[in-house]
Amino acid sequence: MTLKNQVKLMQEAHLHMPQGVAENYRYWGDEQTVFISSAKGAQLTDCDGKKYIDFRLGYGPIILGFRDDRVDQAVIRQIQEGGTLSGFSTSLDTEVAKQIKAMCPQIDKLRFANSGTEAVMGAVRTARGFTGRDRIAIVEGSFHGLVDEMMWKSDIENWNSGDLLPPKIIPFGAGIPENTRELVDFIELNNFESLEQLFMMRKDSLACVLLEPIIGNAGSIAACNCWLQRLRDLCTENGTILIIDEVKTGFRVAKGGAQSLYGIYADLTTYAKAMGNGYPVAAFGGRSEVMAVVGSHAGGVVHGGTYTANLVSLSAAYATLDILANTNALKTVDEAGLQIQALLGRVFTAAGIEHAFAGPPAMLGIHFSSEVPNNYRQWRKVNNNLYKNFAWKLIEYGVMLEPDSREPWFICEAHSQIDFAWLEDVATKAIKSVL
Ligand code: PLP
Repeated sequence: MTLKNQVKLMQEAHLHMPQGVAENYRYWGDEQTVFISSAKGAQLTDCDGKKYIDFRLGYGPIILGFRDDRVDQAVIRQIQEGGTLSGFSTSLDTEVAKQIKAMCPQIDKLRFANSGTEAVMGAVRTARGFTGRDRIAIVEGSFHGLVDEMMWKSDIENWNSGDLLPPKIIPFGAGIPENTRELVDFIELNNFESLEQLFMMRKDSLACVLLEPIIGNAGSIAACNCWLQRLRDLCTENGTILIIDEVKTGFRVAKGGAQSLYGIYADLTTYAKAMGNGYPVAAFGGRSEVMAVVGSHAGGVVHGGTYTANLVSLSAAYATLDILANTNALKTVDEAGLQIQALLGRVFTAAGIEHAFAGPPAMLGIHFSSEVPNNYRQWRKVNNNLYKNFAWKLIEYGVMLEPDSREPWFICEAHSQIDFAWLEDVATKAIKSVL
């Protein structure tokens, strides 16, 4: 019997990288870890020639489609004419900053970064620098990147909704020093009491509250407008910086991100993923007064890095943002997302499965429960096992997605060209085979 390429590649990768992968989140088990040989539009081809329609989209950055010519050609031109980086300023820095400001009215000034992790690190440090306070608060179920302080989470797997005590706060893994937890408080999305308590307890010490109002890491569960407004007001009243993490939602759920959907604006915002259609680029920014603390002046907030605002990333961002601002791309994404939601709705209803869709169509949360969970603790009631089985079946049939209902379905412009009838057929077969 000839070995599948996947088996050979995995065996070899094991010799050189822990778990045989370049980063943790790619490891799906020795036999399930996917090796991709090419990607175009909304389609992936794996190392054994199997094709998938992809709703994972590289953890969300692909908003137009893989290998979008308009973006790739701009990058190639940049490399050929201006190089990849010089460590000096270019006019492109300002041009991309102007594009972001034009789409996101709450941004007066911004700085660039290479990843969501870095953007969050920059925003939190800026909030601390501005307020002179140390404490931060985050929302249960969110993810904000790999800085040690962000690597704490509620232990939802070992918690039941009937439990009297809240879920334990545990590190994401080994190597996270205990003392990085000391300055972090957790609040529950859409829980007013939790919010009031936070500000009562931490009134003068809270530098910032950091949140994803539509939690891209908890099945697109969203803050209700009045809760987010109360958070906004409490931050203003208490001199606390509100940081909205739009790493997943920015330039995806709307041109102006989640904040434009709510009409509620942060003091600082982080962006990454969709702003570069897959090239590594990120930004953080906000009110002039707050961002004024960033800089090399005495007492300024340190920000920088060798690859920050490199020209490959910025030229990709410029081309992507230009398309998002000036074409119907996001409308097309929304329409494709709505179509997918409608067809999955028909499939689940026909199979007699309780289901609820969360979030905007570009970042579709699917929950096997009678209603969308109100927050991460309520997500515990969702039938995630059924979802996992369904997702693995879909993967077998050529639909790529994360086999966990906490990760939404990401939609890109190229999905508008997929065969929706095929998808409905495949989803029907998948759900039937796991019931
Ligand atoms: N913030 C949010 C909301 C995210 O979803 C992520 C990653 O998924 C990050 C920050 C970290 O971004 P990156 O993986 O680019 O470091």
